Amino acid sequence: MTHKGYKQTKEHKDKEKGLHFGEKAGMWKGDNAKYSALHIWVRNNKPKPKFCEECKKEKKLTIACISEKYTRNFEDYKWFCYSCHGKMDKKKDICRKGHKLEGNNLIINNRGHRSCRECKKKNDRKYYKNKNERKNIKMRKL
Ligand SMILES: [Zn+2]
Ligand SMILES: [Zn+2]
Repeated sequence: MTHKGYKQTKEHKDKEKGLHFGEKAGMWKGDNAKYSALHIWVRNNKPKPKFCEECKKEKKLTIACISEKYTRNFEDYKWFCYSCHGKMDKKKDICRKGHKLEGNNLIINNRGHRSCRECKKKNDRKYYKNKNERKNIKMRKL
């Protein structure tokens, strides 16, 4: 007999630590649930090095998604110290679909979060398309 579900305390602590980044700043609204679930999964499964993968210094490390693809691929994540994590966030100049975040394509909201106009447009269109498709299915059934 095995008793699963007793790992919670550690996970819970990790989760609290994670709150200092991103989530607290409200940067990941919308993708929040997906983002934190994946983050926790990677954090628990990707081997943690002793040193920051960017500056190679021995510091307190946090997992960072470097591609913003939100896959379960370890290659898309790195263990960064908090200062490198912050720097990386500022450096990002392409969206998760690879569009350049500059000029007219760059949207900066009042929280300072950068997002892609091209993707926003596509998401909006997808939303309306789905809505219409749902309507059509309903009509066909009738
Ligand atoms: Zn570092
Ligand atoms: Zn985009």
